[in-house]
Amino acid sequence: MEPVLVKNFTLPELEAWVESIGERRFRARQLFRNIYARKVRSWGECTDLSKLFRVQLENGTRLDALRLMEKREASDGTLKYLFGLQDGHTVESVLIPDAPRHTLCISSQVGCAFACKFCLTGTLGFKRNLHTAEIVDQVCQVQIDLGIGTRITNLVFMGMGEPLANYDAVIRAISVMTNPNGLAFSHRRITLSTAGLVPGMARLGQDSPVNLAVSLHASDDALRSRIMPINRKYPLESLMQACRRYPVAPRKRITFEYILLDGINDSPEQARSLVKLIRGIRSKVNLIPFNPHPDSEYRRPPDERILAFQEVLQKAQITAIIRQSRGREIGAACGQLAAGYGEDDED
Ligand code: SF4
Repeated sequence: MEPVLVKNFTLPELEAWVESIGERRFRARQLFRNIYARKVRSWGECTDLSKLFRVQLENGTRLDALRLMEKREASDGTLKYLFGLQDGHTVESVLIPDAPRHTLCISSQVGCAFACKFCLTGTLGFKRNLHTAEIVDQVCQVQIDLGIGTRITNLVFMGMGEPLANYDAVIRAISVMTNPNGLAFSHRRITLSTAGLVPGMARLGQDSPVNLAVSLHASDDALRSRIMPINRKYPLESLMQACRRYPVAPRKRITFEYILLDGINDSPEQARSLVKLIRGIRSKVNLIPFNPHPDSEYRRPPDERILAFQEVLQKAQITAIIRQSRGREIGAACGQLAAGYGEDDED
């Protein structure tokens, strides 16, 4: 029989599972604490469990969903992890140190079906959704690698894939990440970034009070549909309506991501049109000068154009921050989006 992958379970599911194998319900909480707080590498380390139960776990379960294959460090301290999955696929996670924060950018799918023109992952096509365990284990394994001296402070779903297209596994992973007996992150320190999957945004707002980031990248439908095909299905009007309805937590804002592409979406007129589009939404804008990759037709705009774009937004009282790309030389593509999350946290 296939071993049970315990990191696939939320706490209530693990409670049901331990009962199904004849153990008391509270054992699930002990298991959760061992897996996520103590981060044990084998059941033998769980001395608070009976020997019999440990043997049962050793014979019938699997702790790790991922295998660390490669780790690369950029000169700015960004770390890129490459993980192997059971079926031979690989996924990436990127750790962005930005004292006092350590933000981990995690993947939710192998590849992506949404084919945004500027995105390296989009060129790979979609392979499959990640399971809950494969999402959660990115956090566990990176934290184990970092050791006790460095704690991951923020999580961002901005790696490979569109998290709202793998909704159930992502919501279950967030449940484990935020459970006090699990990874114990505050919802306020988790950000989910979407390319604009409108129905998923409405569900997310009801199911989980995480922060929302929206990859916008254009302020008119014609251009956005050209560089982000998802816009043909969910054009700006429906996307903005979903943003206005999203229940943003107190002292939080929606983040709009805007990759600046030279000569494509970086003119002062386009900045003014962006102002109009997001007016009235409690939000901020991350301006990300494009980080060119070999297969891309796009370029980074000159600095004066980037600053001029920012100035238009700032004059309209919109918080607009230029985010420097991180981990360029290690190809941390999603890392360029993930910088700077969590600065609104007051704790
Ligand atoms: S930007 Fe996000 S949604 Fe678009 S192709 Fe890349 S991973 Fe997919």
